[in-house]
Amino acid sequence: MSHTDSKKTCEVLIIGGGPAGISAAVELCRRGFSSEDILVLEKGPAHSYSIQKFYTEGKRVDTDYRNEKAPCEGAMCLLPGNRESALSTIEFFIHYYRLRVLCGEGAEKIIKTGDQFFAETGQSEFFSRFVVVSIGILGKPNKPDYPLSSELKNQIHFDITSQPIENSEVLVVGGGNTAAEYVHYLANHNRVTLSYRKREFARLNEMNEETLKKMAKEGRADLLLGTNISAIAKAGAKIRVEFKETAPRLFDRIVYAIGGTSPEAFLRTAGVEYEAKQPKFNERFETNVKGLFLGGDLVFPKGTIIKAFNSGKVIAEEIGKRREEIGGRR
Ligand SMILES: Cc1cc2nc3c(=O)[nH]c(=O)nc-3n(C[C@H](O)[C@H](O)[C@H](O)COP(=O)(O)OP(=O)(O)OC[C@H]3O[C@@H](n4cnc5c(N)ncnc54)[C@H](O)[C@@H]3O)c2cc1C
Repeated sequence: MSHTDSKKTCEVLIIGGGPAGISAAVELCRRGFSSEDILVLEKGPAHSYSIQKFYTEGKRVDTDYRNEKAPCEGAMCLLPGNRESALSTIEFFIHYYRLRVLCGEGAEKIIKTGDQFFAETGQSEFFSRFVVVSIGILGKPNKPDYPLSSELKNQIHFDITSQPIENSEVLVVGGGNTAAEYVHYLANHNRVTLSYRKREFARLNEMNEETLKKMAKEGRADLLLGTNISAIAKAGAKIRVEFKETAPRLFDRIVYAIGGTSPEAFLRTAGVEYEAKQPKFNERFETNVKGLFLGGDLVFPKGTIIKAFNSGKVIAEEIGKRREEIGGRR
């Protein structure tokens, strides 16, 4: 995996080197594409950077995450394991198929002119006949609707691995599995409170719900269910958190786990149409922009690694078919 600083042309440009993007590349190779025909652009310093960044070390990886069961349909599959085993499975395929994954290349813009796509990163330009966008939905974490003062920027987090969080009074905000896993992880070295706007957990898997409740019972975490934050402000070295329903509290740090958004602006620039905040695509995951496909979490409201792998196979089948139709090289 390397950095690039030149203009490059390829047949299929894959934007996003996570499970969906890597699987699309693997499935293309299995259909007769040479790895020279394919380029994978990855914004992060390594492939599958969302997994590397958002999964805590040793995190258990479920194959039926969020109760979404999907059999593996292509070459890439996953056994129940952990973050590290999932990453080494993906790594194996990258090496086996000699995929060209260019790290540190975050696509900023993509445009179709005639039959060709043009993509731009901060430092390079790429031209291709087909594009697969598989950038996930985690790129831009959701922010709360009250102001976050810049004075608090070192005490506010949107993940827990960019900066070590230790020996602190931490407030985790959110009610999904990510929030639950953050609480579990942070409680090893911190005093942790969870604020969730609903009175009952609605989106947790059984194990996370059980773990949270057990932690609360044993005094290892505080659960503030049915609480909505109205404002936060600096209070000396602490953060004063105002709740609509209960008295204010002081914390050292706040970790938000309130979900991500679809990278709408990026796709809209490429001409992809949206409906009800979701990009439009057909059953082969092709958008209204002919030759531009979406994979992984961009096409599944409840994404999983296996579903992302499977989307890569569907896309590769369609691109393979299209290449035959237009008489491309075999
Ligand atoms: C905390 C957490 C725990 C999870 N646990 C599980 C689990 O146990 N089991 C399971 O099956 N699923 C789990 N999931 C879901 C799973 O991680 C996703 O469904 C899967 O990773 C989606 O794959 P993807 O390739 O679509 O996107 P991603 O994995 O998000 O990969 C997208 C890639 O694109 C890169 N990228 C983003 N923007 C750009 C850009 N502009 N240019 C170039 N590259 C870009 C990113 O850095 C990233 O590497 C979990 C998710 C989270 C957040």
